[in-house]
Amino acid sequence: MVPIKIDLYSDTITRPTQAMRAFMAQAPVGDEQQKEDPSVNQLVEMVCDLLGKEDAIFLPSGTMCNQIAVRVHCRAGDEMIMDQTAHVRHYETAGAAALSGVQIYPLIGQRGIFSINQFQSAIRGSHAYDPRSRLILIEQTSNMGGGSVWPLDAIRDICDLAHQKGLVCHMDGARLFNAVTATRISAKEYSKHFDSVFIDFSKGLGAPVGGALAGSKAFIQEAWRFKHQFGGAMRQAGIIAAGATYGLQHHLDRLVEDQEHAQLLAAGLRNIPGLNVEPVETNLVFFDVAGLGLTAEAFNHLLMQQGVRVSVVEGTRIRAVTHLDVSRSQIKEALQVINAVAAQVRKI
Ligand SMILES: *Cc1c(COP(=O)(O)O)cnc(C)c1O
Repeated sequence: MVPIKIDLYSDTITRPTQAMRAFMAQAPVGDEQQKEDPSVNQLVEMVCDLLGKEDAIFLPSGTMCNQIAVRVHCRAGDEMIMDQTAHVRHYETAGAAALSGVQIYPLIGQRGIFSINQFQSAIRGSHAYDPRSRLILIEQTSNMGGGSVWPLDAIRDICDLAHQKGLVCHMDGARLFNAVTATRISAKEYSKHFDSVFIDFSKGLGAPVGGALAGSKAFIQEAWRFKHQFGGAMRQAGIIAAGATYGLQHHLDRLVEDQEHAQLLAAGLRNIPGLNVEPVETNLVFFDVAGLGLTAEAFNHLLMQQGVRVSVVEGTRIRAVTHLDVSRSQIKEALQVINAVAAQVRKI
């Protein structure tokens, strides 16, 4: 196996920088379950400020943030509406069904973004045999939609209608800050339409572990119950919370670099015959290798032999992600490798 030199697999693969590690090592700690960990408390305050929410809770993963939100908002037999591409639907081992007894109503949006009319027609009636429409989930940015950004107007209209109809709104904001970077609309502006918001620290922010879930005081009080029940209550969690705090303080502004790198990568890929590149709005670059006559799996295999790794979505679709651990010169190098591999495949 050739070692991977340029890893575009995901923004989750970043390792904590030396400075982040030093900050984590120095973090004051206490028992998080007693709310006595100063570093966790500091992070929670920062999250509340950033998202404009009353309270927040630190959790070991983004998946747990989503699953606790579903558990607090819904009862067994409820239904939640989301785009068919949603992370909650595909990559959380059917947790909503297993842990909360909740059914998913998938909508077929465009690039992960559905319309208000689609949403409206998904809301159930009030007959005794109807599932109860309870929750609407919006993924900002939409990962499998192509790193696409939900427009603020669409969010506002959909959340307003949801509230009118007695539904609650949850944002899967794993990459909310990538949307903020692209549009310069604040995280608070996006968040104010939602009853709960999750942000991830282990993606673009480069922290090793964790996510936070934010909402009203009453919502977070309930979330604490399920943090214990789902096994997510920790002890001296300040050490990992400090990684998240460091990420918020030092790595938010640099997301713009990732997005410039994504544009650079996409522009280069568009010049390679046989590749079909989707529009790029943030740090996720999706492209299709059908024109080369091989699968995404096979293409990635060839790239890996040259020390470059991407992520195989399915069939012929590939995702390449820019992040803290990939420099501009590495993007150029990756392009050279992809170009050479594509040329070699075209010759066969
Ligand atoms: C990564 C991700 C999650 C889950 O976060 P983890 O920290 O990996 O558990 C949820 N939603 C989206 C859109 C994601 O990309």
